Amino acid sequence: IGGPPCERYAHAREHLAHGLASPLCEVEISHGCGSWLHTREGGKLLDFTAGIGVVNLGHCHPTVVAAAQRQLGRLLHTSMATGFSEPVTELTARLVGGVLPAGLDRVMYSTTGAEALENALRIARAATGKPNVIVFQGGYHGRTNATLALTRSKTAYGARNHPQMGGVYVAPFPYESQAPGLGVDGCLFQLELLLKQQSAPEDTAAMIVEPVLGEGGYVPAPPEFLRGLRAACDRHRILLVLDEVQSGFGRTGTLFALEHARIVPDILCIAKGIASGLPLAAVATRADIAALSPAGTLGGTYAGNPVGCAAALATLDVFRDERVLDNVAARGAQLRAELDAVAARHPHLIREVRGLGLMVGVELQPSAPYGAARALSRRCAHEGLLLLSAGTFECMRFIPPLTVSADEVSEGVRLFERALAGTLD
Ligand code: PMP
Repeated sequence: IGGPPCERYAHAREHLAHGLASPLCEVEISHGCGSWLHTREGGKLLDFTAGIGVVNLGHCHPTVVAAAQRQLGRLLHTSMATGFSEPVTELTARLVGGVLPAGLDRVMYSTTGAEALENALRIARAATGKPNVIVFQGGYHGRTNATLALTRSKTAYGARNHPQMGGVYVAPFPYESQAPGLGVDGCLFQLELLLKQQSAPEDTAAMIVEPVLGEGGYVPAPPEFLRGLRAACDRHRILLVLDEVQSGFGRTGTLFALEHARIVPDILCIAKGIASGLPLAAVATRADIAALSPAGTLGGTYAGNPVGCAAALATLDVFRDERVLDNVAARGAQLRAELDAVAARHPHLIREVRGLGLMVGVELQPSAPYGAARALSRRCAHEGLLLLSAGTFECMRFIPPLTVSADEVSEGVRLFERALAGTLD
C-alpha cells in the first residue's frame, strides 16, 4: 500500500472537516472480509484495528450480515417513542436474561458510546441528586461536550474547546511501571484525599472508569484497584460506572472485562462490539437506580434502531455458536508470545508489552521521540498492516478481530516488526 492517493480520495480529504485526524493510509476502502480490508485500487490491508474495536467478529460476518439484511426488508426504523420493534424487545430479553451481569436489568439504548456515557451521567445524577463525578487519568469517554469533560487521555481532544463542563474531578489511574507512586494503594489513597479535599461524597454522584484504559494507552486496571473502587463507592454511597465501550464484548477474553476483577458496577456502558459494526450502544443499571430517572429524560430518535438490534442478536448467536472466547484465549496468548519475542529482539525500542486477551499494547521506550507511535502506525499501513497508536505514552494497540486466525496473528506481528525495524532502527 503506498503511492499517491487517488483523485477522489484527495477531493474528499480536502472537503472533509479539518478537525478529523488524518487517516492511517490514503486509500479508498471498498470492502472488508474477516480480518482484511480491500482498497478500490486493489490493495489488501490486514486490519488490526477492527474499526477501533468494533468488528469483533471480523468484517461482514455472514451471520450478522444475513440478520441485518433480513431486518432491512422488514423494518428499517421506528422510534422507541412510537412503539418497540421486535428486535428491541428480543434483544432486551437476551441482554437481561444472562448476557449482562446479574442485577443490571434496566437498559437504555443509544447509537454511540459517547451517548451511552452521557446517559450514564444523567442516570447517576438523577438517582443520587448529586452533581459531581470522578474520572481517572488516561480515561477516554467520548467527544460530545459532556464526555469530553470526562476524557483525560490527551489534551488534543479538547483543544480550543474550553471551558469544559464543570463538576468533574480527576483521580490517578494505577500505572506502576511508569512511576512508583502510581501503585494501587497510592491511587486509592489519592482518591480518598480527593473526596476529603475537593469533592465530598455528598456532592459526588459517580466514579466513571474504564477497566482497561483504551485510548489512554492500553493499561489494564489491576483487579484490586477495581475492587478498591467498588469498596470506596459502597462506603461513600457513590455510584460506580464502568465504561466497557472498548473492553466489552469479548475483547479481553471474557464477555466483559469486569469479570477479571469479579465486581459488578452500578451502571455499565457498552457499545462498539455489541452490533459488529452497526451503530448501537447501551447503558445498563439496576431497577432501583433506573426508577429515579424521570420519564422523558432519556431518549433519542435512533435509540434502539431495529437493524442495529438485529445485528446485536446475531452477534450474540455467533459468540455462542462459534466459541469466540476460546479463540480470544488462544490467539491472545499467541499474540503476547510473538510480541514478547519481538520486544526481546528490539529491547532498545520496546519498553513493555501488556494487555488482556486481544487488547494488547506495545509501548515504545521513553527515548522514542514524540509522535513515534503515530509514525510507526503509518509505516505499518505502508507494509499492509492497520495498527493504531494510543494516547499519552508512545504506544501501539493491537485489537484484531476476535475471530483472527493463527496465521493472521503471525503475519500481523511480522509486518509490525518490519515496520518497527524500518522506522526506528
Ligand atoms: N468510551 C470508550 C472506552 C471508548 O473507547 C470510546 C470510543 N473509542 C468511547 C467511549 C466513545 O464511543 P463513540 O466513539 O462510539 O462515541
